[in-house]
Amino acid sequence: MTQRKIRTLAQTDPQIAHLIAAEAKRQEESMELIPSENITSAAVREAMGSILTNKYSEGYPHQRYYGGQEYIDAIEDLARERAKKLFGVPYANVQPYSGSPANLAVYVATCQPGDTVMGQALPDGGHLTHGWKASASGHFYNAVQYHVNARGRIDMEEVEALARKHKPRLIWVGTSAYPWKLNYAAFAKIAKEVGAYLVADTSHITGLIIAGVHPSPVKYADIITTTTHKTLRGPRGGIILVTDKGLKKDPALGAKIDKAIFPMLQGGPHDHQTAAIAVALKEASTAAFRAYGKKIATNAQALAHALISYGVDVVGGGTDTHLLLINCGNGRGALVELALDRVGITVNKNTIPQDPSNPFYPSGIRIGTPSVTTRGMGVREMRKIATWIKAVMDLIADEQLPQNAKERAVFVTQFDRRIARNRALTAIRADVRALCKRFPAQR
Ligand SMILES: *Cc1c(COP(=O)(O)O)cnc(C)c1O
Repeated sequence: MTQRKIRTLAQTDPQIAHLIAAEAKRQEESMELIPSENITSAAVREAMGSILTNKYSEGYPHQRYYGGQEYIDAIEDLARERAKKLFGVPYANVQPYSGSPANLAVYVATCQPGDTVMGQALPDGGHLTHGWKASASGHFYNAVQYHVNARGRIDMEEVEALARKHKPRLIWVGTSAYPWKLNYAAFAKIAKEVGAYLVADTSHITGLIIAGVHPSPVKYADIITTTTHKTLRGPRGGIILVTDKGLKKDPALGAKIDKAIFPMLQGGPHDHQTAAIAVALKEASTAAFRAYGKKIATNAQALAHALISYGVDVVGGGTDTHLLLINCGNGRGALVELALDRVGITVNKNTIPQDPSNPFYPSGIRIGTPSVTTRGMGVREMRKIATWIKAVMDLIADEQLPQNAKERAVFVTQFDRRIARNRALTAIRADVRALCKRFPAQR
């Protein structure tokens, strides 16, 4: 018998291998301050890249439509048990392909198309899937949106008034660009009064909840959804939990969610992803992870304090989570994002509350500390990062974004090209790279 040689990616597809290597270098040499991103452990990546991707296993453990499931069932059982134990809930579904499909499954399980639902508006820090008109959630459901007040805090009076007026079947509490702790108890009171399901989407803050630096929604929400790849540090994926409260409200809720995921919305679960989620949940159950979650918040506060001390306009005056928003001036978020990219600090442009501009040219940037905290950076490094952000903002302070939409696009392209040759930015780039070298991403 001839022996089959295992061929590496570099041998079979040098183009893709080269691009992965280039991206690995980019991740090593720049710092990711996008608050929804993180760095997975080698163990998570080993499970994610495993032969489990070869398997089909439509259905749920011990009730599958294909054979050969003895190990797959054990893996999914472990993932579900670990999720239930970690969060203290009686039900978990670990099959959602990602956060958005998880949220769609919640709608399918609890609502009919056309039903009224309520969520936080996207420009106010909410998520697309909470009823924003560009997403299916705002298309198939009658979505009512609540907002933040002038101080950037969720306007609970508006939430209450809208809930009483529109009687939504489902209320979302969960954010993507909101620096403050959420008051789940206040939402639960309103949801109870109008008979709505309360769904907490903790995607961004799951790691903080595990660490105890953000309150847990388990006592207040009926359903909890989360991505697994943000502060939780797992592979890309999603989880849906039903709380004791949720099962009391509707004992069939777990079964409805299982059905919504499969067969309503998805086919075969991604078993490699399920295994990697199980690994991440095990990692998140440790004291080391809880310490990590606390450090994310400490770092975010240190970054905010330093920026404020340099005169940077931090929206709402700070943060008590993992992220903060900077007001860069009318429509200038994109310029700051591009200039920071040039020095190896990756952030994303973002709308700010009551943004005078539009989502394509928003006035803010959003920055978060989960990824740099994973690399081991602490308060001292946050201060250093703040000086770089301030220096970059100062360097481009005279750049004026045109009012006209067409002129804007041309201006931004030329701006990006022009700053590529800026000596001061190149010098900061070298400093950023040197700091990154001291805190390896892949360990
Ligand atoms: C990231 C996020 C999602 C969606 O997650 P994807 O995996 O990108 O689909 C949903 N809700 C909130 C609040 C999020 O922050």
